[in-house]
Amino acid sequence: MDMGGLQNIVANSAYVSARGSVDGAAASTMRDKKFRAKLNLPHIKKSEHMKTTVDCGFDSMCVKQPIGKRLFQQYLESDATYKNACELWKDMEDYNITQEKYRVQKAQKIVNKFYESKSKIFCSFLEENAVTRVKEDHKNIRGDLFKESEQQLLKHLEAKAMSGFKNSMYFLRYIQFKCLEAQPIDEDWFMDFRVLGKGGFGEVHACQMKATGKMYANKKLDKKRLKKHKGYEGAIVEKRILAKVHSRFIVSLAYAFQTKTNLCLVMTIMNGGDLRFHIYNVDEKNPGFDETRACFYTAQIIMGMEHLHQHRIIYRDLKPENVLLDDAGHVRLSDLGLAVELPPGKDKTKGYAGTPGFMAPELIEHKEYDYTVDYFTLGVTLYEMIQAKGPFRTRGEKVENTEVQRRILNDAVVFTDKFSKDGKAICEGLMEKDPVKRLGFKNNECAALKAQPFFKELNWGHLEAGMLPAPFVPNPKAVYAKDIDEVGAFSSIKGVVIDAKDNELYDDFSSGNVPIPWQEEMIETGVFGELNLWAPGGKLPDDLDP
Ligand code: ADP
Ligand code: MG
Ligand code: MG
Repeated sequence: MDMGGLQNIVANSAYVSARGSVDGAAASTMRDKKFRAKLNLPHIKKSEHMKTTVDCGFDSMCVKQPIGKRLFQQYLESDATYKNACELWKDMEDYNITQEKYRVQKAQKIVNKFYESKSKIFCSFLEENAVTRVKEDHKNIRGDLFKESEQQLLKHLEAKAMSGFKNSMYFLRYIQFKCLEAQPIDEDWFMDFRVLGKGGFGEVHACQMKATGKMYANKKLDKKRLKKHKGYEGAIVEKRILAKVHSRFIVSLAYAFQTKTNLCLVMTIMNGGDLRFHIYNVDEKNPGFDETRACFYTAQIIMGMEHLHQHRIIYRDLKPENVLLDDAGHVRLSDLGLAVELPPGKDKTKGYAGTPGFMAPELIEHKEYDYTVDYFTLGVTLYEMIQAKGPFRTRGEKVENTEVQRRILNDAVVFTDKFSKDGKAICEGLMEKDPVKRLGFKNNECAALKAQPFFKELNWGHLEAGMLPAPFVPNPKAVYAKDIDEVGAFSSIKGVVIDAKDNELYDDFSSGNVPIPWQEEMIETGVFGELNLWAPGGKLPDDLDP
């Protein structure tokens, strides 16, 4: 074997073994003690200065941020007045992830306990209409059975319990964690493993956060390359958007920092490779997916895009290559460098962006457009999953972009017998040339698209909760990336000088830890539990007592 082959095997085995050991209890054994020791709660006196500046809106602190929510719930449980409300809150959340066959039973229990006025722990803050509706409806399985009640519960807690929480030691603990979260972080905190892929401005490596043991993907953007090829805008956009959206169908950003040479985005690691690889390279004699599998991925892509569109973000670069698989075979959208956010009050945008062969007619024609362009790319992507060939170009075909554009504008798509009636219908609805008639995002959701017969077997509620098993599960021992010597090196960039203005931009990019994913990491890896200790009697440890 040559040296390159050997290096590849060594790199793969280090990566596969780090990946495997992170599951479950073993994560803590993978930690670096020196870095774990840096994750210690600061003394309360040292964090007090944040009391006035810390993010303490109810929805953000007590509902959205995982550590904030845990501490708020611990406070509720410690106070007899709110204990029941907290139990109901947790029960409603449990209901949403309960399997269908146990749901009616679970709902019945909740109703008996909290909704019956004769019950000891009847929740009187629930409004009568909501109570009636849940009682009438709880024998039907509905994903949103408790939605209205939950809103009322949260409103109640905000009005009644929030001020008590803010005067409690649990809030001080929240501040301590926020202080820890604000701690600056740099490349030393991460151990690099093999390269997973190559982008336009640098490589993406598997890496491990030393203090917790959690695996991530680190997308490195070369500062000089960015400057030379005018990549700043895309880098900042990608960072800003990834830090803002939180969905199980989009990669999340946990850290953004800089090194001497790179800007780094540390994101959810997707070990299963991209859809393009799975369409063409896994079974080369029989490329493409059956419709059931294509349907599953399409549904998850729709969930991700609906989330983006609800946040006024147009993705513009959907294609199989940018859809990545995780260990369980679920997919997420990645690569948001071409995305654009519509500012308030502006409902359309212009600008030529995307990948040839995927771009919608209205975009090619330089018209103003909105989310509709993403549903055209979805049609192209779905077609390619089933046909193992793009609708407007054959793989490897030498064809000018102008010809591809002409086909997109003028030619009807040809469907083979690989498509069922429903498969063809949805592709046609998505690749409709007129954006007004195209299937897509209407009234802030994708209801009509989700109701297509193509999805008739699919349970959207379960999909949304991450409860549907994937049609294909990647092999935990396999590496779904090119061999390291095939990834290809970058040539060095000459003649680019970094100045003060560039540094300003780098500082803007390097915003550090992203609260929600950082807090999830702390909880998931057990660090939160290790740090969140109370003295006997449920008090802050002595030296922390204010
Ligand atoms: P670019 O914007 O320069 O195209 P990408 O974000 O597409 O860069 O990343 C380049 C490649 O790195 C991808 O094609 C994929 O193979 C790999 N990659 C990117 N993000 C991840 C991730 N989160 N997990 C695993 N691999 C990734
Ligand atoms: Mg890419
Ligand atoms: Mg990109």
